[in-house]
Amino acid sequence: MKSVDAHLADILATVRPLAPLELELEQALGATLAEEVVSPVPLPPFANSAMDGYAVRAADIADVPVTLPVIDDVAAGADELRAVGPGHAVRIMTGGPLPAGADTVVPVEWTDGGTVSVRIDRTAAEGNAIRRAGEDVQAGAVVLKPGTVIGPAQLGIIAGVGRRRVLARPRPRVVVLATGAELVEPGLPLGPGQIWDSNSFTLTAAARSAGADAFRAPTVGDDPAAFLERLDAQLVRADVVVTSGGVSMGAYEPVKEALSPLGTVRFEKVAMQPGMPQGFGTVGDDQVPVFALPGNPVSSFVSFTLFVRPALDRMRGLPAGLPATVTARTAAALRSPAAKRSFLRGMLGSDGTVAPVHGQGSHQLAALASADALIVVPEDVTEVPAGEQVEVIRL
Ligand code: AMP
Ligand code: MG
Repeated sequence: MKSVDAHLADILATVRPLAPLELELEQALGATLAEEVVSPVPLPPFANSAMDGYAVRAADIADVPVTLPVIDDVAAGADELRAVGPGHAVRIMTGGPLPAGADTVVPVEWTDGGTVSVRIDRTAAEGNAIRRAGEDVQAGAVVLKPGTVIGPAQLGIIAGVGRRRVLARPRPRVVVLATGAELVEPGLPLGPGQIWDSNSFTLTAAARSAGADAFRAPTVGDDPAAFLERLDAQLVRADVVVTSGGVSMGAYEPVKEALSPLGTVRFEKVAMQPGMPQGFGTVGDDQVPVFALPGNPVSSFVSFTLFVRPALDRMRGLPAGLPATVTARTAAALRSPAAKRSFLRGMLGSDGTVAPVHGQGSHQLAALASADALIVVPEDVTEVPAGEQVEVIRL
């Protein structure tokens, strides 16, 4: 049997980072920057008020209370400004450009709020409540480096330096295709022998959580020709295809039957539990990577976590490997088959423990849904006594 590490190594040797594209800001969330973003101007571009108040000369408010004439009113966006002469005040709003001559802003709360003249009750040091030009970013400075994932704040600074587009590796497009003659769309009634399709929802959501644009294709039954037809129709819009089901040892394994003779897809037994049967390879003219994951819900989810997620990281141009682990003490004794790496579903406690949840079968989706961690038991360990240290993948 192939080890988990060897299987992931094969996958990461095949999958390449996506080519960078000029993305519109609206498309750039979750993309990975492929250029330095430089600000062409200082930020703020001009000195402005940090508060609603009065722009004055500090020397004029050394002794308070003092009453000054209000010679102008400056809102954010104002462009014609009167200079503040000695003994003058200008009413100014947050973001309003600081008039020439002023060196201090007195917050409105420290005054009587007057509009013709203003009584100032508290003194303020020179520079008070003023945002200097360039105090956030100097003109020509790099604000973001290549390899940065564009989140909301990163998108904000890209827009904030005036860019409409950015060169970035896009979110990978993932098509999820579930197979199984027994599958029924949730919301429709179940007939005899049928179950509701859950994997396609789990896998689509997992791909989105992993930074992909995921599409859920309509499920197909257990006919290899129908599967191939559906796959072919989806390939044009996919950077990765993830299928579920139809890869085991039984009869009616459409994914295995259809893909085995095609492209480079290989079906192997990986020494893990759950998730032993795994298919991976590339198909089509564009050599689109295909993950053929097992159908058992917990198996397909764990397989996604171990293999598909790192592949998506690689496509996004990010460091890729097995998920990070933390150490915890197991709250109960654990059992694991020999020569397989186990990923038991567990609940992390606030006291540094992890408790295996009730129901460790690979079909027990409710148990998975109650877990927040996978407890990793290595290949050469079959029993772990309660209280031992274990490695845990946080979900
Ligand atoms: P398979 O890998 O197709 O042999 O399926 C293994 C088990 O997983 C069977 O019990 C299937 O009914 C179940 N299964 C397969 N696909 C799905 C799905 N999309 N949602 C929920 N269960 C599934
Ligand atoms: Mg099946």
